[in-house]
Amino acid sequence: MPDRSILAPGATIGILGGGQLGRMMALAAAELGMRSHVFCPDADGPALDVAADRTIAPYEDGAALDRFAGQIDCATIEFENLPLEALDRVSRHVPMRPGSASLRITQDRLAERRFVEQLGVAVASHIAVERAEDLEAWDFPAGRAVLKTRRFGYDGKGQAVVANVDEAAAAFARFGARPAILERFIPFRCEASAIVARNASGAMAAFEPAENEHRNHVLTTSRVPARLAPATLERAIETARSIATALDHVGVLAVEYFVTGTGPDETLLVNEIAPRVHNSGHWTQDGANVSQFTQHIRAVAGWPLVTPRRLAATRMVNLIGDEAENWLRHAAEPGARLHLYGKSEARPGRKMGHVNHVAEGGGEGGAG
Ligand code: AMP
Repeated sequence: MPDRSILAPGATIGILGGGQLGRMMALAAAELGMRSHVFCPDADGPALDVAADRTIAPYEDGAALDRFAGQIDCATIEFENLPLEALDRVSRHVPMRPGSASLRITQDRLAERRFVEQLGVAVASHIAVERAEDLEAWDFPAGRAVLKTRRFGYDGKGQAVVANVDEAAAAFARFGARPAILERFIPFRCEASAIVARNASGAMAAFEPAENEHRNHVLTTSRVPARLAPATLERAIETARSIATALDHVGVLAVEYFVTGTGPDETLLVNEIAPRVHNSGHWTQDGANVSQFTQHIRAVAGWPLVTPRRLAATRMVNLIGDEAENWLRHAAEPGARLHLYGKSEARPGRKMGHVNHVAEGGGEGGAG
């Protein structure tokens, strides 16, 4: 394999996945003079509009993966629910950044929680559920719980809040009796996320953590500065750095947290690791000196990382379903930076775009 540890302008980055995250990655690559080749199964993936090359094939198509790998200098991912075999196959030809190790752990909620606990970091208390009888071990009188399938859950899919063993059993059956975890419902004060980038030499750079709001398990708003104590922000970053290091991750990685308590009792619990750029980092496109997408491309291309700095208070609001119909109003709003993903059909719950409200003059107005 030729030395491809540092990609030069003109190089081609292969992106597995064709969604909006791949689209924004490809745009960032183009700004640095690099080309993108998107591999995805759907001919209408939002990333395809802005990529130089495309392969439309299932992730299980080994011959298509080999051809793709023969046309790129390095590969990355834009979502984590990919078959590990696809990453391993591509990595026989070119550097795969991140590698399949980052996905192996984060694709399975139980493995992810065990991994986080081994690092000495707290998660919500939970049990593994293989069979309906396992649900009986849970102490329901102590409070509500959340049943989550171990694999292929995102944006609240395969997830149910349950108050007793009957509700838990019904949800388990509804999810096809697939292996799951049952965890304590956390009455959090807010949610937060930390985003770090790590390159192949182990150098890291962290963005300022964001405070996040979800509706129906889907992110609606991220804001910086987060209303958290400085020590909590520091801990959120340190945890994300230790996770990225332990995974030997290359690229951007996000860690989502539940925040409980206030003042000296402010506590973080890790909810989820995303081994990729993350929706809660979209504020960086307009509110920081480097966007998470540019930082990710720099990390996978072996370029120096930028030390992130917030330029202004920023509030990112997702445009979900028909909310994107207000695009003209957002386009006219002072301080609002509109990003649309080029999706033709606005199905309910579908992320169509986002708006970054940046405080004019560096004040706090945009984060109100
Ligand atoms: P997840 O798919 O695990 O990231 O969950 C999506 C969202 O559901 C989270 O961001 C929370 O808003 C909510 N949620 C998930 N697990 C819990 C929990 N154990 N307690 C309270 N809310 C939760």
